[in-house]
This record gives sequence, C-alpha cells and structure tokens, in this order.
Amino acid sequence: MHSNTEDTICALASGSGPAAISVIRISGPKAIEICNTIFKGKDLNKVDSHTIHFGTIREDDVLVDEVLVSVFKGPNSYTGEDVIELSCHGSPYIRQKIINLLLDHGARSANAGEFTLRAFMNKKMDLSQAEAVADLISSESEASHKLAMQQMRGGFSSEIGKLREELINFASLIELELDFSEEDVEFADRSELKDLILKVHKLAQGLIESFKVGNVLKNGVPVVIAGKPNAGKSTLLNQILKEERAIVSSVEGTTRDTIEDEAVLNGVIFRFIDTAGIRETQDEVEAIGVKKTLEQIETAAIVVYMFDVNTFTPSTLRDVIKELEEPLSRNGAKLLLVGNKIDQQDEETVRAQYKDFDDMILISAKDNQNVEKLSNKLVDLIETQEVSSSDVMVTNSRHYEALTKADASLMNALKGLETGITGDFIATDIRQSLHYLGEITGQITTDDLLGNIFSNFCIGK
Ligand code: GDP
Repeated sequence: MHSNTEDTICALASGSGPAAISVIRISGPKAIEICNTIFKGKDLNKVDSHTIHFGTIREDDVLVDEVLVSVFKGPNSYTGEDVIELSCHGSPYIRQKIINLLLDHGARSANAGEFTLRAFMNKKMDLSQAEAVADLISSESEASHKLAMQQMRGGFSSEIGKLREELINFASLIELELDFSEEDVEFADRSELKDLILKVHKLAQGLIESFKVGNVLKNGVPVVIAGKPNAGKSTLLNQILKEERAIVSSVEGTTRDTIEDEAVLNGVIFRFIDTAGIRETQDEVEAIGVKKTLEQIETAAIVVYMFDVNTFTPSTLRDVIKELEEPLSRNGAKLLLVGNKIDQQDEETVRAQYKDFDDMILISAKDNQNVEKLSNKLVDLIETQEVSSSDVMVTNSRHYEALTKADASLMNALKGLETGITGDFIATDIRQSLHYLGEITGQITTDDLLGNIFSNFCIGK
C-alpha cells in the first residue's frame, strides 16, 4: 500500500448525514492552487499558513455556498503536505457539488485512511499513533478515549522506544565482541547482559500484561449474569441498561454498529454477554443455575451470580462457588455474588445469615435499591486505577502480538546466554526482537501491514 504523493487528494472529513457544517479536506502539492480556482475571496496563494478565510464557491457564476477555508502549509499540517480544510454548510448536495468541483480541477478522491497514511509517510506520527487516531474517533467511553488519546500523543511509542534503545545497547555490546571474535575476547560482561535482557523482558511483560485490561477497556468489559430462573437477572439488566445504556455509535467505519447490551459505568464500557439467553426459559432441573455460565466463563471477565434471598441458602451458595471456582481461576474471571429481592426480607437478618461471604451485595433489582452500588463494584473489579495512572496500556491486538514475539526472541537470547551459546546467535535473537518492536511503531513495515491498517480507516481520515 502506498500513496502517490504527487496527487492532491480530497474527501469529506465530517459525517455523512445532513449537518450544520461539513468539512472537506484537501491535501497534496496542489491543494491550495486547486482550492483557489473555485474559491472567490482572498487569493489563497498569498495567505499565511494557519489562517482562515471567508469566501464563496461558485460554479459558472451560480453561488454554491458561502464557506470558510483554513490553510495549512506543509510541513506544519496533519499530513505534512499543504492542507486545506473547507467548511461549508452541511447539505449532502452542497458537499457533493464542492467535491465534484475539486475533482474537476485536478484533485482525486482520497482512499480510506489516505490522509493519515500520508501523515505516517511524512513522519508526522508513527504507526501506533496513526492507529490511535482511528481508536480515538471510535472511542465511546471515558476510558477508551483516554487510552486512545495517550497512544496518539506518543505515550505508547515512547515506551517502545525505551525497549528498543536498551536492546540496541545490548546488540552493540554483543556485536563489538563479534568484531574481535578471532581473538576470543568477551567485552560484554555476561551477567550484565543478562541483567539488561531481564530488564527489557520486565518492561515488555508489563506491556503484554496490560493488554488484558487495555483490551477490555477499549472493547467493553464482558460480563455474564448467571443464576437460577426468576432470580431477577433480567430485571437487574434492565435497570442497568435503563440508566446507563451506551450511546449507539453512529461513527462510520467502526466495527461495532449496534450496541444493544452495553452500559457505560463510571466511564468504562460493560458488555453484557448473551443477554438473550438470560431471558430464555432455562432448564428448571438445573439446581443452581450455573450450567450455562460454565460455557460462557471463557468469554467473561466478570461473572455476576445472582440469587433470590427468599429461596436460597448459604450452603447452596457455597456449592455455586465450588462449581465456578476452577473455571473462573483458569480464565482469570472474577465473581460477584448478588443477593436479590432484599425488599422482601430484613437486610440485617440476611446479612447475618451470609456473613461468611465477603463482598456480597444485597440488592432489590425491582426497586432499584443498591443497584448503583453494584455498578460501582463492577468498576472496582476491573482495577480501573490502572487507567487513571500514567501507565501505558496496550489496547491493540496487533501490538500485543508483536510484543509477545519480541519477548519470545528475548527469552531465546537469554537462554543462549545461559547455555553459553556464541554471540552471533544471541545477536540474531536480539535483532529479531528489534524487528518486532519496529513493526509496532512502523520503523519496519510491509505493504500488507500498511494495507491492513489503513484500509480499515474510513475515507476522509
Ligand atoms: P430471571 O429469570 O432471573 O431473569 O428473573 P426476572 O428478572 O424475570 O424476575 C423474576 C421475577 O422476580 C419477576 O416477577 C420480577 O418482577 C421479580 N423480581 C425481580 N427482582 C425483584 C426484586 O428485587 N424484588 C422483588 N420482590 N421481585 C423481584
């Protein structure tokens, strides 16, 4: 994938429906010249960079629209080229008319992601930052917005930069040794090298680990609500969704179009899994209502087990926990116990009865009592403090895979050091590791890789 940067490209940069204002973006060597031919106002060839100008667009003396034109001269622009952002009234007719005029005067329609691709090619941002632009546009919650913003502003890139720097130090020590291999000397102290690898490994592991939380924060924390029929699962879900249902995304090009069972709680997206299944009549013979859950634990980060305090007993609850314990720990999912229908019991009595169960929440789903407390508990369970700190998180599976491969190469190098393998093999592993890290930020790219990333962008990005 490449962009012929001789071309001047144009596309609608704002949404496709009718709107008060729309923005058309033009980038390339002739951006200013082409725009100037259809714009009546100041001579855009003579204005300063980063200035805005009022004028009109006409076609054969027919007024198409009154517009504002923002001029950015390369390299100080989004793409690094000359860029015009033309704000017009947001009628689909006007937009199309203006775009057609631009095409008639020598611009071409931009491909998906081509503006950002050019920004990457012109080193305005690295690859992970370009990807963050797409994430930022599609972010739907405070947490996913924060992560994308941090990545776009280079937080993640600088962590990867640190890893690369350490590895380059390492490689130069080893390679120095190789230059003198005939003399059989060791410049690089082996234990020092080992410490260096372990240090980089620790950094890489931290980032790899963060993917688990980073990924759910970006895509929503998957939650399963389990329990016997009539425990009140649907009632609870409806309460949560009624208050906090996620806004259905209308952003084009985002992968998730409808968000039926998502809620944003304290800035974090929660995704309730198989909520249709909750409403189905369940197998009445199943004693404790965990069978379906066992199948779903693999996809869940949190299992909410709900029971009716009027008909349940602590010993049955113990059975539930026993049944769920192993699959939960295998998948690293968390369990939240919720006693429902507390409106029909004395809360203190129930609490005393279940005193052995820490962290159990008593609610009335029907009366919306303590449901907010439950929501807060869900947020606590995913350790959101990790987002609020300045720690960098991996949210992109491509980055996660590259880091995992980079780390595996490091571990090979470490093994090599421990078994006293010759320096050239170790150097190969280190170079391999550097290669994978380079793929994240884009020092190493292939057409396929770029094609995969930018073709998922929408036109105008
Ligand atoms: P599900 O089968 O687990 O999804 O349970 P439902 O949500 O359908 O609830 C079963 C019944 O319990 C319904 O008649 C609800 O109105 C009732 N119910 C749910 N929550 C409460 C509650 O907090 N208090 C009382 N008294 N009834 C509830």
